[in-house]
Amino acid sequence: MGSAVVVGAGIGGLAVAGALGRAGWQVTLLERDERLRPGRAALLLWPNGVRALRALGLDEGLDAIATPVRPDGLRRPDGHWLRRSAADRSDGATPYVVHREDLHDALVAGLSDRIDIQTGVTVRAVRTDGYRPVVTDGQATWEADLVVAADGARSAVRQRLAPASQPVSGGYAAWRAVIPWYRAPELPAGTPAAGETLSVGHRFIHASLGERGSAGASSRGGIYWMASVPGAARPEPPAVQLSLLRRWLAGWHPPIGQLLEATRPEDLVQETVTELSPMPESFVFPTGGGGYVLLGDAAHAIADHLGQAACLALEDAATLRTLVRAAAPGPALVTALRAYQNSRRPRAARVARSARRLATVLQGRGSRLGTRARGMALATIAPRMLEAAASGANDWEPPPIS
Ligand SMILES: Cc1cc2nc3c(=O)[nH]c(=O)nc-3n(C[C@H](O)[C@H](O)[C@H](O)COP(=O)(O)OP(=O)(O)OC[C@H]3O[C@@H](n4cnc5c(N)ncnc54)[C@H](O)[C@@H]3O)c2cc1C
Repeated sequence: MGSAVVVGAGIGGLAVAGALGRAGWQVTLLERDERLRPGRAALLLWPNGVRALRALGLDEGLDAIATPVRPDGLRRPDGHWLRRSAADRSDGATPYVVHREDLHDALVAGLSDRIDIQTGVTVRAVRTDGYRPVVTDGQATWEADLVVAADGARSAVRQRLAPASQPVSGGYAAWRAVIPWYRAPELPAGTPAAGETLSVGHRFIHASLGERGSAGASSRGGIYWMASVPGAARPEPPAVQLSLLRRWLAGWHPPIGQLLEATRPEDLVQETVTELSPMPESFVFPTGGGGYVLLGDAAHAIADHLGQAACLALEDAATLRTLVRAAAPGPALVTALRAYQNSRRPRAARVARSARRLATVLQGRGSRLGTRARGMALATIAPRMLEAAASGANDWEPPPIS
């Protein structure tokens, strides 16, 4: 078996490091932070993400930590329906919501004891002139048959290998929060456990994470919400950001006001929404008998209204593991890396195109329409586009194990 250095211990890096380790590879995981730290709040795991976790052998226990999301449909801020959905979807496209700490724990549990985890290491440069790939933090160097760059949208490795691809603002600001059950508001009877509301440029999604009072495997239940508004990330302290959100979404139909009232500044997580422009032409850079591979946001950060990017990172990890697991360093490994490129680059480009089309309608990005026309487009086109984009993104199967 070969050796791999994985740079970055986010969702993508943890998933691929664990998968390669379990397949018998000798893996070193390098992380800039002083410890392996989960992201905050929660995220949606779409069916493609669940399939990727299954392919990685990490789906055991998922039922205990993930809650199916069954939104009642899509509404305007005044509560008017843009689209109603059946509570139980027959197309198998139900996403799950999972606390990021629970997902992190599942990924960390999947790291085998063969993995050498080194924290407090910031990779700054790569060397492509030798027989094997090499990364360095400026002091020490790490060499392996395979270097996987899973170091996020601002990837230092990608900046050396594909410098034309630069992270740019996605054009909107986004917040997530989980209000823990013990202080989540009691919602009026009949309030659906999940919902989504859209206006021109603004969006609010909520979903229950577990059930109030249930003693599931996760003690991290509550009500998750995500809000986005046009413009750049806000520089103010969280308490001010929260009062701005309450003001921007004032008058939106219940339970949005109640959820924002019950949120505390310490619950609020503002996310930097970044996309790569352009997406790198190649996710693979062969070097000698192995090479460098871009994975997750390092390869294809997208300003993602669907909430698919972490699922794509899991797909990347599952695909890479399947393709390289039995490939010996040398021509077989290089061929496997080319297969990764041929599988992942078109897939990521397709999801990114669909995300851009959605952004045109949801944010008015690149649109020449006036506000009124955008409002009409939102009512007529957005529900169909969201549905089509979600089913296109969900439509992924892991490559067969050869
Ligand atoms: C508002 C919002 C909502 C979202 N909701 C969803 C959702 O519901 N579902 C979904 O699937 N996706 C969602 N996403 C996307 C998802 O959060 C990201 O795509 C995903 O977390 C990316 O994972 P990653 O492992 O590729 O990168 P990252 O999470 O960025 O991890 C990179 C890691 O590398 C480390 N690192 C960085 N540089 C270096 C270096 N030089 N040396 C060493 N280590 C380094 C970092 O410290 C970090 O640990 C959302 C994104 C946003 C902004």
